[in-house]
Amino acid sequence: MSSCIFCKIIAGEIPSVKIYEDDLVYAFMDIAPINLGHILVIPKEHHESASSIPEATAGRMMKVGSRLGIALKRALDYDAYNLHLADGKAAGQVVMHAHLHVVPRGVDDDFRWNWRQLAYADGEAAAMAEKVLAKFKLNDQE
Ligand code: AMP
Ligand code: ZN
Repeated sequence: MSSCIFCKIIAGEIPSVKIYEDDLVYAFMDIAPINLGHILVIPKEHHESASSIPEATAGRMMKVGSRLGIALKRALDYDAYNLHLADGKAAGQVVMHAHLHVVPRGVDDDFRWNWRQLAYADGEAAAMAEKVLAKFKLNDQE
């Protein structure tokens, strides 16, 4: 969809810090993270709502998102992660291309679902993405 910011990211027309890409999904660093390392996993095909995403793609988003959550714990020393998807404006969806948030969490991170937006220093997101990628194993059991 030509006017969609996330479709433009997938097409390389808008820059992003990419973490992972395959035939169905694309994962990249959120530009305004709740906690540093916050990742978005999106279907390559444009879907506004999660409800219209084909099952294979939706399953891949969940698989990649959860494995990236584990990679965030391993690479950046977080304790846990949230998977979050806002479907519809009233639910907080701002970008109308469905996306799964992978939000790394620490026991003392002071985040209580009052959405916040932190900022990266120059090069910090790319350096973190590299660390996370080094710990990312799509088909591990643990
Ligand atoms: P939502 O409120 O669930 O629609 O979340 C949209 C998310 O997209 C927010 O967390 C934004 O920080 C993030 N975002 C918006 N534009 C960009 C961008 N160009 N690159 C990376 N993340 C973005
Ligand atoms: Zn799109």
